Amino acid sequence: MRLIIKKAIYIFISILVICIVVAITRINLHQPNVQTSNACNTVNSPSCVPNGSVPISPTPNFNIPQTDKERFLSAIASHLSNIPQPGSYEYILLKAYGAVFINQLTTVKLPSNVLLNNEQETQTFQNNLTMVKIEGTNDCYLQAIAATALNQARSQQNIPLKSGYGSGDCTRTFATNLRFWHKYANQHTLDKVKQGQETAILSTVAPPGASQHLWGLAIDLRISNQQQRKTLNEYGWFQTVVNDVPHWTYLGLTESDLVNLGLVNKVEKGISYWVTPL
Ligand SMILES: [Zn+2]
Repeated sequence: MRLIIKKAIYIFISILVICIVVAITRINLHQPNVQTSNACNTVNSPSCVPNGSVPISPTPNFNIPQTDKERFLSAIASHLSNIPQPGSYEYILLKAYGAVFINQLTTVKLPSNVLLNNEQETQTFQNNLTMVKIEGTNDCYLQAIAATALNQARSQQNIPLKSGYGSGDCTRTFATNLRFWHKYANQHTLDKVKQGQETAILSTVAPPGASQHLWGLAIDLRISNQQQRKTLNEYGWFQTVVNDVPHWTYLGLTESDLVNLGLVNKVEKGISYWVTPL
């Protein structure tokens, strides 16, 4: 009888010891899970893998300041199907005329490439634009939002067109762009531009298919005082091509927006230009 009681006590103690060991092991197994869960509460923790699922990509750290170029490239990405690569002809054109591609307004239409290759491509793009006439002109048309802003500026200030009246200052056809090019340059000049050996000509005339005037967002004006410039700026019009003094571009933004979207202010011969950071 005593032997049976001893055996029963022995079995009971053994079971108790096994239960204690199992309990301690479970507590140890749970410990790392608690730590992982805490780690997931920390934003940007690269080790955070909630519930064993697919790792989350690190959240962008907004404390790291982006460069002008990074902000610019990010802003233009919504318009251009391919961002031109440094050294290419398209990159040279983007650098010279691409300031307008920062525009985030859905009412401003832009081509999906900095270069329109021929009259047909130009017409296809222009056929999708809503154009409005500049008041007091014969046949000067711009994209609606740009024209409305310019008409408002011109209602406050006397702001004459460069030629005084005509369409050549406003939206142009591919043929007009080509004709203007041949007035100042030729195929040899174009070859040098493409090779990056000639840039000065880009301030005088745009190569065929590359003019901002094809996009309905540029106009050539005859400006003689600072008040005219200030009024144009207030209505979203800026100078974006250094040394092309009569040339104005509709950006539709404030100066602080231009900085935020990566444009760089450059003052040349007393004139303030907003240029690409490329
Ligand atoms: Zn112009």
